Amino acid sequence: MSEPTLGDLPTSELHEHGARLLRWIGDYLDHPERHAVVSPLTPGEVRRSLPAAPPASAEPLERIIEDFERRILPGITHWNHPGFFAYFSISSSIPGILAELLIAALDVNAMLWKTSPAATELEQLTMDWLRQLLGLGDGWFGIINDTASISTMLALAAAREAKPELEIRARGMAGRADLPTLRVYCSEHAHSSVEKAALTLGIGLDNVVKIPCDDEFRLRPDMLARAIADDGAAGYLPLACVATVGTTSVASIDPVPAIAVICRRERVWLHVDGSYGGVAAVSPRLRHVLDGTEQADSLVVNPHKWLFTPIDCSAFYTRHPEILKRAFSLVPEYLVTREQDDVVNLMDYGVQLGRRFRALKLWMVIRAFGADGLAARLEQHCALARDFAGWVSAEREWETVAPVLFSLVCFRFAPAGASEADLERINSDILQRVNASGEVYLSHTKLDGRYVLRLAVGNIRTEERHVARAWALLRDAAGEVSGSPPQ
Ligand SMILES: *Cc1c(COP(=O)(O)O)cnc(C)c1O
Repeated sequence: MSEPTLGDLPTSELHEHGARLLRWIGDYLDHPERHAVVSPLTPGEVRRSLPAAPPASAEPLERIIEDFERRILPGITHWNHPGFFAYFSISSSIPGILAELLIAALDVNAMLWKTSPAATELEQLTMDWLRQLLGLGDGWFGIINDTASISTMLALAAAREAKPELEIRARGMAGRADLPTLRVYCSEHAHSSVEKAALTLGIGLDNVVKIPCDDEFRLRPDMLARAIADDGAAGYLPLACVATVGTTSVASIDPVPAIAVICRRERVWLHVDGSYGGVAAVSPRLRHVLDGTEQADSLVVNPHKWLFTPIDCSAFYTRHPEILKRAFSLVPEYLVTREQDDVVNLMDYGVQLGRRFRALKLWMVIRAFGADGLAARLEQHCALARDFAGWVSAEREWETVAPVLFSLVCFRFAPAGASEADLERINSDILQRVNASGEVYLSHTKLDGRYVLRLAVGNIRTEERHVARAWALLRDAAGEVSGSPPQ
């Protein structure tokens, strides 16, 4: 065996395979119909198709790329497919894809200003651009995290630090008789990341208080006020409330202005979770979705969800960066820099030290589409959802089950006389059939115990024909399912 050569591959390989992969990507984006949206593979198939042991020596890129196409691609569920309507549909875009190439090439670690001034300054600038696009006033500090789950966890950590008398930073929470039990409030439709944050921070799941919703799935402020008052009287310490703009199941909007009044009165930190719905405010016509957020203490919106930026890119804002910094800043000697008092060092505002240069992709996406282009795309997605809801409502045996405020429709097939159990079976069968077509992918949820289907528009390449195709497949499947004898 010859000695392995050292160093990177020659750049001729980059030119050759880079050009080939760019052509592949273009072809992939042009011809999504060649792929089933949901991978049809069964558990273990991808892994079994690949060698269990790593290669003993170098393999040509040619062969690796071939295996990507032959063995990896069949196990991909195509989130970047215009027929992807499940969960919250997301999509990358060409400027975002190009930016990811540059990010990998530079391989910057943006932990300190000094370790790459442009990465820190572009993150601050781009977050301020996004703030302006969302129609928020001055006074918000923004930072990019990987996910909304992390952003919400940081928000609750900051909420704790906003009560310095608790001395949690220094003394922790365990074994302290002097510390009241902390309580966090959110609606029963809040995202599970609120509970995960409570788990992580030692607040405990029992202390996440789920406030009931009204009949449009919105947190009831009167019930929030009562829960806070009851908890206060019982010796708990109300710490934070998470209001959601665009809940995960049904995209309802909690009444943030009324919630903000209560939070301010009770000295409770208000975090707005607009992971999906918040970005809609980029459209002036939808700006009202963030009403009241100006009174909140923190906010998260996910450009990787509905702003055409490749995952991951979660924008976290707070009006109290000094509190966030107090919660997390820790500077060991090897990270001390001369400039540290004059600059933002992103490592001070969260748990992680190393940091990807995510701002570059958001900056390129915003520039390449412009404020008007982004707004028009978001509005188009909402219009497609409204069209779909219109088709559903026009059919006697179908119904929408929640208002369509964004680009999500919750609906079901509901033939007269069927019991709730029948409807669950029928709709679940419809979903199976439609998803098995490979042309579209939808998901489901339960609302007040009712099994409902969800169609979420969010892919940059989704057009009316894709939504219409989903509707045709749904109707066909309903015909087949309801024609079959009940089991
Ligand atoms: C998707 C979603 C989240 C979680 O987002 P991640 O970035 O995946 O952590 C949180 N809240 C809401 C309302 C969401 O829709």
